[in-house]
Amino acid sequence: MVKTLLVFPPFWEPSQPYLSLPALTAWLRQQGCEVRQWDLNLEFHDRVISQVWLERLLLTRNTEQVRQVLPLEAVVRDFLPQVDAAKDLLRSPQYYEPLAFVEAKAVLEKAYQLLSLPFAPSQCSKRAILLPYRESSSDELAKATADKASNPFLDFYQHYALPELEKNLPDLVGISIADTTQLVAGLTLARMLRERWPQLHITFGGALFSKFAAALVEKPNPGFELFFHSMVSGEGELPLLGLIRALENQSDFASVPGLVWRDQQGQVHRNEPGLPVPMNELPPPDFEGLPLDRYWVPEPILPLLGSKDCYWKDCSFCDHYVSYAPRYRLRKPALMAQDMVLLAQKYGVRRFSFGDETLSPNYARQLSQSLLAQNLDLKWSILSRLQKEFDPETCELIAQGGCQFIMYGLESAHPRVIELMAKGTDPEIAVQVYRNTDAAGIYNYSFIFFGFPTETRAEAETTVRFVEQNHSIMHSLGAGYFFLQKFAPIFKNREKFGITMVHDQDLQDDWSISVRYETLEGLSQEEASEFHQAFMRYLKTLYGQPLWLVDNSRSTLFHYLCHHGKAWMQNYDFTGQVEVQVSS
Ligand code: SF4
Repeated sequence: MVKTLLVFPPFWEPSQPYLSLPALTAWLRQQGCEVRQWDLNLEFHDRVISQVWLERLLLTRNTEQVRQVLPLEAVVRDFLPQVDAAKDLLRSPQYYEPLAFVEAKAVLEKAYQLLSLPFAPSQCSKRAILLPYRESSSDELAKATADKASNPFLDFYQHYALPELEKNLPDLVGISIADTTQLVAGLTLARMLRERWPQLHITFGGALFSKFAAALVEKPNPGFELFFHSMVSGEGELPLLGLIRALENQSDFASVPGLVWRDQQGQVHRNEPGLPVPMNELPPPDFEGLPLDRYWVPEPILPLLGSKDCYWKDCSFCDHYVSYAPRYRLRKPALMAQDMVLLAQKYGVRRFSFGDETLSPNYARQLSQSLLAQNLDLKWSILSRLQKEFDPETCELIAQGGCQFIMYGLESAHPRVIELMAKGTDPEIAVQVYRNTDAAGIYNYSFIFFGFPTETRAEAETTVRFVEQNHSIMHSLGAGYFFLQKFAPIFKNREKFGITMVHDQDLQDDWSISVRYETLEGLSQEEASEFHQAFMRYLKTLYGQPLWLVDNSRSTLFHYLCHHGKAWMQNYDFTGQVEVQVSS
């Protein structure tokens, strides 16, 4: 039997498991496959950001340069012991003491920065590790993944991951990559595995690789040379199962649905995806093998998915559709409620986060009705759209059913910009939804971005005024500025949106998913970035210094909300207590 190992590599926040591994593990186990799952991201954070690991690095690598920027012995003696204590605090009830929490996070941030020194000029922070290479270029990635001097993942894999793997070597390694912050770490791992154990089959999947697979229509991805043997395009259940069966039967991969692979002549093939497995036939996610007690939180949050793809799907800036089969599908809410009850009992958890691109108000209603019938005190969060179906009665019902936290994509409050985005929302309805969720006791978070092509400064100001007028019912926000994604509908029709020029290098790069551009009118990318920075500073004037402006991790907000409640979240202010960094 083929032994499969599914891996989630760094770099991601170590606050909860990522759903792809437990979802695929459950499916493959149901099909009789031998599969293990490995949250290598958690292992990286937990082992590297520790007294022992950092001490070894600081005392053995780049020591002369390290001594030039800090008093090395004093840091080792006085600071490093605080690092393990800070992680212990996050896993304890002290997590909910805001000042202790912020202090622990500051210690850990400093520890990430210390990690930069032995690997200079790489820049490490809690959000990402940036190597001195352009990660969208094949040539640069080839150098980055072999650069022992600046790549901290090489050191981690050499000292921890490879020796661990050798104890129980798999036949197939599936590496799941959700975002660009994992690209170098994932490819470095693949390259080391390929060099050390050439017989292993290495496949990549996840949202980011679905986009790279989509680009294969134009030209083959050079990653086949150095990093992997195949890639999964879109949903992983059938491709992975087909790949396992093909490896067992030693057949070629021509009949594996959704697989991108290279034959013996070097020809790259992209197989048709086949029909996805109906969501009602999938088992609930299986978290066996993941160390739920080691995430940097006091109790686990389990990720769930009630639907795949998006029922709206029209937003011109959005490329999420690439990761899914082309049809919106649901898991019956009653079945989802059963999953939640089962998982709550099996793992002793009370908190769930739905990662659906957008979970509909109707789904939330039906789920709540099923959960209320179970009489269990489960808390959950969702992402959704600002639509009128979040009426007072629905909001009341879903609050009773355990929905604590809804994240909405407001994006803009200017009617022309909303229409151009094809967002399908209405600022007046948005206000009603905020009011209804607020009245029902549900905490909300809104995503906003500035600089959609042709958006003028005056139009962006409309969004600022909207937030100002509604800040008592808009509880928390995250803002950014527009990126032109290669696979979003706007890219194909960019002339219609006033885009006059796209950066040629970004177009040519094999590993780029967004491109720099210029427009005839509206805010430029630089102006949008500056507008965003000014907006973040303005939020401090408007809201003071609530938790979400100190730490806007969804996981942090959800845990605090479940523990302290909505009123605390709205009223607690760090002003005068700590020097607060405004998060974006
Ligand atoms: S932005 Fe959200 S609502 Fe719009 S298409 Fe994408 S997933 Fe759907």
